[in-house]
Amino acid sequence: MRPVAIITGGARGIGLGIARQLAQAGWDLALNGMRQPDDVLQPLEELRCHPVTVEYFRGDISSAADRQQLVTRTLERFGRIDSLVNNAGITSPGRKDLLDATEESFDQVMGVNLKGPFFLTQLVAREMVARPAAADDPVRRSIIFVSSISGEFVSTNRGDYCLSKSALGMATRLWAARLALHEIDVFEVSPGVIRSDMTAAVTEKYDHLIADGLTLQRRWGESEDVGKAVRALVTGQIPYATGQVLRIDGGMTIRTM
Ligand code: NAD
Repeated sequence: MRPVAIITGGARGIGLGIARQLAQAGWDLALNGMRQPDDVLQPLEELRCHPVTVEYFRGDISSAADRQQLVTRTLERFGRIDSLVNNAGITSPGRKDLLDATEESFDQVMGVNLKGPFFLTQLVAREMVARPAAADDPVRRSIIFVSSISGEFVSTNRGDYCLSKSALGMATRLWAARLALHEIDVFEVSPGVIRSDMTAAVTEKYDHLIADGLTLQRRWGESEDVGKAVRALVTGQIPYATGQVLRIDGGMTIRTM
């Protein structure tokens, strides 16, 4: 029996890096994202080179109906969920200074980055609790929240993004506490600066910052770096650490003097 993971935002960027690692590890995948199915044929084809089943369910995780549909369709197709990887997220639209930030941006960012993962986790957790762990389960069940270095570092032109990512740290600890007795592990994975569509617009800025020592390891993070961390967590390689944060940031959060 192959384990099954839902990965939100799983058809590009960091989510695709996670999907590649889990497909390599023999997981069946339910990927979600905002693009139309016709626009994700290439990554799906690539993932299907592995002997696993990969489905794509388009949907907006800030919408309750879409979240429910994602879980329902995953269960119809695969019959089980072993891991949920809450990866999808958006940056702050317009990246406005705190003095100019708008409620529209705040609501949109919170909807996708915090409300969506929180209530998608609730749906998946209810399903997991209703189907207790069994001796023949292929893996221990898990839930991952992909947060960000921006949950710790201040960017005054992305306040809503920073707040949403900071709150995912508490969401991780809340769900870890609630689900521990059900043998479900919950982790936060906090990426630093990772090469993806989200950071494409600021490539030059970060090229310089990284060369000047922003990170201890002087290179961009790649989506595979995050993928390997998530793979280690969901395959039980870090078995006694529920509720913890794993920073994949090349040492960016280490202060030196
Ligand atoms: P990306 O923009 O390349 O990909 C985001 C993915 O999320 C896309 O697949 C998109 O379709 C999906 N998505 C966006 N809104 C959605 C919605 N409402 N419903 C469902 N899916 C939605 O970004 P990325 O760099 O791959 O980022 C992935 C995650 O990692 C995000 O949560 C982001 O905040 C976080 N992160 C990224 C970096 C970085 O440097 N790239 C650093 C720290 C954290």
